[in-house]
Amino acid sequence: MSRVTLLGFPRIGRRRELKTALESHWSGDLDAAGLLEAARALRRNHWQLQRDAGADVVAANDFSLYDHVLDTAWLFGALPHVHLESASSDPLAAYFASARGGSGRRALEMTKWFDTNYHYLVPELRRGQAFALHGDKPVAEFREALAAGFAARPVLLGPVSFLLLAKTVDGSPALDLVDDLVAAYADLLARLHEAGAEWVQLDEPCLVLDLDDRTRAAYRRAYDALASAKGPKRLLTSYFGALGDQLPLATTLPVDGLHVDLVRAPQQFDAVLRDLPDDRTLSLGLVDGRNVWRADLREALALARRAVEQRGEDACWLAPSCSLLHVPIDSAGETTLEPAIRDSLAFARQKIEELRVLADALDGDDAALAAVEAPRIARATSALGRADVRDRLAAVTPDMLDRRSPYALRRARQHTALDLPLFPTTTIGSFPQTEEVRKARAAHRAGRLTAADYRRFLEEQTRRAVREQEELGIDVLVHGEFERNDMVEYFGEQLDGFAFTKQGWVQSYGSRCVKPPIIHADVARRRPMTVEWSCYAQGLTPRPMKGMLTGPVTILQWSFVRDDQPRSETCRQIALALRDEVLDLEASGIRVIQIDEPALREGLPLRSADRATYLGWAVDCFRLAAAGVRDETQVHTHMCYAEFNDIIEAVAAMDADVVSIETSRSRMELLDAFVGYRYPNAIGPGVYDIHSPHVPASADMLALLRKARAHLDPAQLWVNPDCGLKTRGWPEVRAALAAMVVAARELRAIE
Ligand code: GLN
Ligand code: ZN
Repeated sequence: MSRVTLLGFPRIGRRRELKTALESHWSGDLDAAGLLEAARALRRNHWQLQRDAGADVVAANDFSLYDHVLDTAWLFGALPHVHLESASSDPLAAYFASARGGSGRRALEMTKWFDTNYHYLVPELRRGQAFALHGDKPVAEFREALAAGFAARPVLLGPVSFLLLAKTVDGSPALDLVDDLVAAYADLLARLHEAGAEWVQLDEPCLVLDLDDRTRAAYRRAYDALASAKGPKRLLTSYFGALGDQLPLATTLPVDGLHVDLVRAPQQFDAVLRDLPDDRTLSLGLVDGRNVWRADLREALALARRAVEQRGEDACWLAPSCSLLHVPIDSAGETTLEPAIRDSLAFARQKIEELRVLADALDGDDAALAAVEAPRIARATSALGRADVRDRLAAVTPDMLDRRSPYALRRARQHTALDLPLFPTTTIGSFPQTEEVRKARAAHRAGRLTAADYRRFLEEQTRRAVREQEELGIDVLVHGEFERNDMVEYFGEQLDGFAFTKQGWVQSYGSRCVKPPIIHADVARRRPMTVEWSCYAQGLTPRPMKGMLTGPVTILQWSFVRDDQPRSETCRQIALALRDEVLDLEASGIRVIQIDEPALREGLPLRSADRATYLGWAVDCFRLAAAGVRDETQVHTHMCYAEFNDIIEAVAAMDADVVSIETSRSRMELLDAFVGYRYPNAIGPGVYDIHSPHVPASADMLALLRKARAHLDPAQLWVNPDCGLKTRGWPEVRAALAAMVVAARELRAIE
């Protein structure tokens, strides 16, 4: 019998039950027992759902109250001392303090989980770090599944990936800690064995990255040591890409099974079949754990058949490519979607059902196959393509990607046209999305506030924001983005080719979820999207008002993207739609246009060899969107927080007149990449942290500005906060911006 297994399931719940429980616990409305009971109920429901959908084995210990990397750190006692100490009195409070800060303790840093939109907490290790089992979460959750009648496979983050994802506070190599850590893992494996686990899943996603010999040697040491310990059979899992040059390592580590991602990396199939020793179980990642479309089941079946013919049914498992954490739970409830779109979607539940159909077909029963793949075939043959979009894209010529003149000339023309002081001040776009703003939006959506009243409300908010900025003495103004719920959704809702779900939630971090739009067809702009609001705001002031757009790469990156054409093609369609918007803004008298690309770096492929191709088309898309304007029109981009060193050339190639970035928390360190590269255009390195309600002193901002000024040409430097202000309140925003304007004036006075 062919077996369906999976690497992990979403934790947050179909209706975000975990979010609700967490947030009421944090606000004091739900006690610890209540929270743990809610978590238990979710696990039980999710196991039941997995089994009902056709899984033979469910995943255990894939659940987390906040983050699985943080769980792993706690499990082995790998936390800074202050956190560990407080755990003895209240472990749950200590756990949440390590995730979110609180009671005088600092939260761990958070960063992106590979190339997903999930964020994990970065464990902090140090030289000589000791590891020992603290608690027994994996064992307890395995027992819980067993007691509820589910055959389960406990999931652990593997020891080497854990170390590679962590950071050391003293700069010592984390891999030095591998022996000690593996000893603690061995203890855990023995306990899982005692509890009756037949298999354990060891996630080693770092196997798909570029690794050096030292890291490969650490893998060997770690897995050799685990092999000699008593424990369940070990399934080593790789996902998010090809094993590539790590294939010889992965196929020779002493484990009992190997999982490979055949969605992101189908090309590795032959080599895996050839190299994996016969006594290993092969877990085939056949349906896409990273996207929401139905799988090509015929193709998947052909792969599975070949594996089974060669290795036998018992040695091949059918699985999603990676954990289902990155997709929503069930598309069946999406009743407001067009049926043709809904039927072509596969969320977590549908993916397991697809695997069941595949397994049954392998076992000789292919009755369900035709019905399950019908919507996909229908989609493939339906008219997703639009001749007008295709024709316009085909007509794009290379010169459309270039501004008319080089930057130096544009700078002079913009200087005359805009008449800005030295070190101009601006903000990144949004002003506080107060309770009042959110309430009005909700009332409008629910039909309790008429379109006219909502409009009047937004006008009032915008007027106020403009007045505030004028009073503060900001040089380049923004309208405040009060009409926007979200920087991608706002555009997606106005573009053809996008669909929106009701419950398509995906965990971003902790209790935070996103509901990415779904790009299902060719993208086209129906009519101007932002011109009215920008012009309304410009009409209120003689100062330049920035038009505010989300860039093509960011819209792509924060959506689920159709999988029937290259992502680059979809991105170009978005870029062309935005180009029209940019030109309409310019024609309506908007002289400064900001195109936000905070997600450019996120799209970077995991392997360095693939990066140039991505950056090439990503930059071209930005340029296609931006470059149509006259020299006098100033293009800004905002890139948020990112490591710029390895993408600085691409950032320069975007050729925005001004780029703003988040630099205050790193005390301008992130500016180094620009300085080292001799970045020629203007830069607005953020001078204050908008993530905190703290109002910075103007002396502190002046110090940061002087630091930046020391390395830049005076004409290059802009003055702005780190990012948009939508999560802040007006009183602190007013005070912080007033201090920022003072800092800019003082800098001008020194100059
Ligand atoms: N313009 C957006 C804002 O100010 C930018 C947000 C972002 O960088 N993520 O809200
Ligand atoms: Zn930002």
